[in-house]
Amino acid sequence: MRAKLTILALALLLALTAGGCSLLFLEEEREPDEIIRGRYVTIETTAYCPCGQCCDWKLDAKGNPVHSKGRYRGKPKAVGITASGGKATPGTLAADTRHYPMGTVFYIPGYGYGCVEDRGGDIRGKSRLDLFFPTHKEAQKWGRHRIKCVVFPKGTPKMPKNAPPPTED
Ligand SMILES: [Zn+2]
Repeated sequence: MRAKLTILALALLLALTAGGCSLLFLEEEREPDEIIRGRYVTIETTAYCPCGQCCDWKLDAKGNPVHSKGRYRGKPKAVGITASGGKATPGTLAADTRHYPMGTVFYIPGYGYGCVEDRGGDIRGKSRLDLFFPTHKEAQKWGRHRIKCVVFPKGTPKMPKNAPPPTED
C-alpha cells in the first residue's frame, strides 16, 4: 500500500515538474505532439497602440485618463488594459468576439502569432483584426492592409509549437 502511494506521489511530482499545470490541462484536449491545423482567412488588418488616439481616451481636467467616445465617455479609462483585463502586449489582437472569441489564436504574416484579448469600437465582422504595437510609430508603420492570416481552433496555445501553415486547397 505504501509503495503504491509513493509511486503515485512520484508520478504526480514528475508530471508537475515536467510540464507545469497548464500542460496537464492541455493534455486532456490533445496530445503534445499533435499537429494543430489552422485555416486561412483573409483579414483587413489595422494596428493600435495604448495612446489616446488609438484607444479613444483623453486626460480630464484633473489629469486622469477618461474615455473620449462611446457609452463610457468621461468615465475613467484603464490605459493599456485589454477588454479581457490583462495588459496589452505585442501579440494582443482586438477582434469582433462574436466571430472570434477571447483566446482565439491567429498567425499573421509579418506580425507573428497573436491571441484575441481585446475588442475595438470599429472592429466588426469576421474580416477585421486590430494588432497591438507598443508605440504609435510602429502602429502607424503597419498601417492597414488585407492579408491572408491563419486562424487556429479553440484550445490552441498562444505560442503553438506544432502549427504549420495549412495547405492550400
Ligand atoms: Zn497610438
